[in-house]
Amino acid sequence: MKISLKEVNSSAEQRVDFDYTADFSSEQVMGEYPFKGPFSIKGYVALKGDAGYLNGSIEGRVFTSCARCLKPVDYVCRADAEYYITDDIESDGMDDLLYIESDEIDLDEIFFQELLLNMKSTVLCSEDCKGLCPVCGKNLNDGDCGCTRKEIDPRLSKLAELLKK
Ligand SMILES: [Zn+2]
Ligand SMILES: [Zn+2]
Repeated sequence: MKISLKEVNSSAEQRVDFDYTADFSSEQVMGEYPFKGPFSIKGYVALKGDAGYLNGSIEGRVFTSCARCLKPVDYVCRADAEYYITDDIESDGMDDLLYIESDEIDLDEIFFQELLLNMKSTVLCSEDCKGLCPVCGKNLNDGDCGCTRKEIDPRLSKLAELLKK
């Protein structure tokens, strides 16, 4: 969805509200398609003095896999955005300022960027996920496989001996 500043300027309250769902299912991130479901985007664009002002949020489910056991997991990701809008390229990149080339504000683009910035870098299926066995690859959450895995760190075994005394 796009909103033009002209449209905002000519509206009765110099404000245009938006509340819609966007589809990012074809967007790929690191070989995955994490945005299977719809994303809800809401907020408003207003004029504050001479400047345009955008305030809103995006929310939806992100689908990925557990960083330890690779099981599919999903979580709700929400990001808020608040910007003054400028057509002055000099101020591009400044905090809280959003540079737009034309008169139009591309909400999908803006909120999609916010979503990417707010995605979790590591997601676990549960805090105490045991992960996969490095020897046989079995999911250890389904039970132990009987492999002999990691040697105990020698520093830790010394500590263990000390603690025994
Ligand atoms: Zn897991
Ligand atoms: Zn194993």
